[in-house]
Amino acid sequence: MARVYNFSAGPAVLPEEVLKEAAADMLDYKGCGMGVMEMSHRSKMYQTIIDEAEADLRKLLNIPDNYKVLFLQGGASLQFAMIPMNLMKNGKADYIVTGQWAKKAYQEAQKYGDAVAVASSADKTFSYIPDCSDLPIREDADYVYICENNTIYGTKFHELPNTKGKTLISDVSSCFLSEPMDVEKYGMIYGGVQKNIGPAGLVVAIIREDLIPETVADTVPTMMQYKIHADNGSMYNTPNCWAIYICGLVFKWLLKNGGLSVMKELNEKKAAILYDFLDSSEMFKGTVEKNSRSLMNVPFVTGNDELDAKFVKEAKAAGFENLKGHRSVGGMRASIYNAMPIEGVQALVDFMKKFEAENK
Ligand SMILES: *Cc1c(COP(=O)(O)O)cnc(C)c1O
Repeated sequence: MARVYNFSAGPAVLPEEVLKEAAADMLDYKGCGMGVMEMSHRSKMYQTIIDEAEADLRKLLNIPDNYKVLFLQGGASLQFAMIPMNLMKNGKADYIVTGQWAKKAYQEAQKYGDAVAVASSADKTFSYIPDCSDLPIREDADYVYICENNTIYGTKFHELPNTKGKTLISDVSSCFLSEPMDVEKYGMIYGGVQKNIGPAGLVVAIIREDLIPETVADTVPTMMQYKIHADNGSMYNTPNCWAIYICGLVFKWLLKNGGLSVMKELNEKKAAILYDFLDSSEMFKGTVEKNSRSLMNVPFVTGNDELDAKFVKEAKAAGFENLKGHRSVGGMRASIYNAMPIEGVQALVDFMKKFEAENK
């Protein structure tokens, strides 16, 4: 078996231990004679799987009891619509636009109400997080929306915006469980799990109970009402059973490895190896302002498109996969999620040094 170092932005690398366990369970889960993909979501066995997944996630993030944990489908992108449909009670929301995902969420919200961009970093190709200490947040805004870690541009909010008392909603898809979070600072946290936790197609949403509306407009599809999913334990219909199971294994892996503060330390170490090299290299440069850098997604360039392409090609041949930058940015991007071992980052930097020496 030859596993590569996979720097994909998502779907992305998962812990080998988890994949092996899932492989062993594939045909016969805990002696029940069938795999998780084959069992009824209404079975006692499956109920235990989803209950444990929720309980473990609550432990990891220290989620207070007055927050619901929902396992939803449709990817993070469906939340761009579900959020305004459910949570725009005055019909107004303020968005901080720090990249393509935030922009998509903002544009989707405009379909349902009065969404305003109160800050943006579009002027410098989203290479920084704007100062959000004193934004023109509207008095009657239902919420302030951010994308906390910008997967494509490699920026991260290291300080949450001053929402002036308004509810904060955060898309954490690409930094989910990479470090501890203070859940109480948010009204809602959500993320597609395929970046840092599990297989694509599942979203975990953590929503403060009092924000979930009793009623919504008649035109909101049943499947898009948070209350329906909350009242039915995320099983109004058949959930993404398999993805929830894998996430559950990853939650256990995280707990076993010391939880999120240990993960944060390790992620800081990994990112420092790469950023320190980028700061010292003559050839490779990071594209993000230093104080906005993400721990998870690290974009970089040589400044020469041909050399970038040569690097990506040679890196692939050497066992470093998916380093090509997002099509909208070009260059390279290394996504170094929880499951990327520190050895992988070190090996990448060693390879970059060698490439630099050979291509001076
Ligand atoms: C990948 C990503 C999305 C979109 O996720 P889908 O599951 O493909 O809809 C949204 N937000 C962020 C921050 C992402 O990284």
